[in-house]
Amino acid sequence: MINKLAIVGIGLIGGSLARALRRAGYVKEIVGYGRNLNNLKLAVDLGVVDHAEVNLSAAIDEADMIVVAVPVGAMTEVFSQLSGRITRETVVTDVGSVKTSVVAMAREALDPAEFARFVPGHPIAGTEQSGVVSSREDLFQNHQIILSPEPETDAGAVEVVRSMWEAAGASVRSISAPQHDAILAASSHLPHVLAYALVDMLVRRDDHREIFDLAAGGFRDFTRIASSDPTMWRDICVANREPLLKLLQNFCDDLGEVMAAIEAGNGEWLMNTFDRARHARETYVKPAPSDSPDSVE
Ligand code: NAP
Repeated sequence: MINKLAIVGIGLIGGSLARALRRAGYVKEIVGYGRNLNNLKLAVDLGVVDHAEVNLSAAIDEADMIVVAVPVGAMTEVFSQLSGRITRETVVTDVGSVKTSVVAMAREALDPAEFARFVPGHPIAGTEQSGVVSSREDLFQNHQIILSPEPETDAGAVEVVRSMWEAAGASVRSISAPQHDAILAASSHLPHVLAYALVDMLVRRDDHREIFDLAAGGFRDFTRIASSDPTMWRDICVANREPLLKLLQNFCDDLGEVMAAIEAGNGEWLMNTFDRARHARETYVKPAPSDSPDSVE
């Protein structure tokens, strides 16, 4: 049970966590911190938070749980502002989509005792929408949460964060930050870059209106994630550039082979490749948990 939960960045993910914990009766008081007064007012009006603050110190005062839910590029600034304000009774976690760089930011900004109270986390759930208006109480239901504790991370703090996510309906697993970043670069970051690049390439053609007009379900499925928030994805690409660039290079090399096979009219090669891909997708890609929005993460 959390007495006071402070959510730093009350958007899709922060708002959905607040809603889920309230539904579970797991929190007494929720305070949201942000910069935009309209967004904060909306969070209060929607009943997502009890109070809203534009002053971070006031928002986290006496909080036993602080959840940092801002874009990855804003985390350095937030950790710097949290520095010196994290007591031994407080647990801090984040929801950032990249872990190695977020851990480095926290290590740099916080003193060692504070850093030990920080549990790096990432919910593998979300949508292409953003903002508190899109938040929903079942966003994490039956989804996985990755925690990436460091050797210095307090074991008790990890358990507190685990229990919080379980109360929100999720299951929790631990994966090291570098492993998390390598896996998510493949399963999430690469597909987002490809979707953005494809739509951007097409929209720059003179006949883009006809192309989009005649696009059907396959195009919609493939490009849905290009509707995601550009700020969030810019930050993720920059923060996780090393694994992402390796995969992009791999992908370009493999695409070159596909082009060569098409140019040579090598139907057998294409057949084998497409067949292997279809089999892999049918074997490994699980359907989305029922009643949850399609996940982008
Ligand atoms: P969002 O809906 O845009 O919410 C982000 C919130 O952060 C906004 O309400 C914004 O409020 C606040 N914010 C932005 N810049 C800030 C800054 N410099 N200082 C303080 N507050 C700031 O984004 P989201 O989708 O919830 O994503 C939040 C985090 O979750 C990101 O780190 C993302 O990588 C991670 N994540 C996202 C998903 C997903 O599918 N969307 C899934 C898993 C994890 P104000 O404008 O009022 O300040």
